[in-house]
Amino acid sequence: MPELQEVVVQWVEADKSHKNRVTMKEENSKVVIELENVKRYFHVGSEVVKALRGVSFKIHEGEFVTIQGTSGSGKSTLLNQLGCLDTPTSGEYYLDGVPVRKMSKSQRAHLRNKKIGFIFQNYNLLANTTAVENVELPLMYNSKYNSKQRKAAAIKALEAVGLGDRLYHKSNQMSGGQMQRVAIARALVNDPAVLLADEATGNLDTRTSFEVLVLFQELYKQGHTIIFVTHNPEIAEYSSRNIYLRDGKIREDTINNNIKSAAEALAALPKQED
Ligand code: ADP
Ligand code: MG
Repeated sequence: MPELQEVVVQWVEADKSHKNRVTMKEENSKVVIELENVKRYFHVGSEVVKALRGVSFKIHEGEFVTIQGTSGSGKSTLLNQLGCLDTPTSGEYYLDGVPVRKMSKSQRAHLRNKKIGFIFQNYNLLANTTAVENVELPLMYNSKYNSKQRKAAAIKALEAVGLGDRLYHKSNQMSGGQMQRVAIARALVNDPAVLLADEATGNLDTRTSFEVLVLFQELYKQGHTIIFVTHNPEIAEYSSRNIYLRDGKIREDTINNNIKSAAEALAALPKQED
């Protein structure tokens, strides 16, 4: 992918100037997500599994937050709350100022489609379907788009993730990194308030993981709000804030004032041998 190598150099330069601008940015911007003492208990037989034991935080527009913790710490349960895929046992969740808990299922589904872009470990692309068709999908239920506008929006999103030359490749004709970039384009096409990623680099090799991480840092610089769930502590070095979960509770919530550049890390990786 020669193109990518060239842009990486530009990204490294852009990182240097960006670093000075981001400080304090988050504190002045609006709250996109607010959790108030959210608990989620599961009843399994006679046992109660306390997956979330009272989680509270605010996430501001433009933050890149990693949610980190070992297996079983409650990350997916938390992400399901944030993604409006599940409701808390108690506590409140406000998404873009809207209280989610009292909503009906269909209201929640509507809010989810409008406000959230999901990115999964397994990409969740439709098999045997082109990149453009996959990315058009979230716009199918949006009456503001006719088929021509849908296609144009999908192409624009794919170009933004560096896949302008793979528009009509089918999912099974692409590499893991390319498929994840299609998934990111699909998440972006609706212009959501927040991007939610669950182990988005979990299936990728080191180099490809960094390429995807470079893309996330680019989106962060453009002002997107990102929540990236991962068991991998290294990824927290590349985000602006890290929330560490253990046993369903927040153990640490720290701002990263020294965000590492994924582009630099990528450039420093040993060259791939053919
Ligand atoms: P993580 O994603 O950090 O690995 P999870 O959120 O998947 O953790 O799980 C947290 C805890 O809640 C675990 O003990 C898990 O077994 C339990 N759990 C998650 N989902 C369910 C469910 N649907 N029913 C019962 N227990 C669950
Ligand atoms: Mg999980």
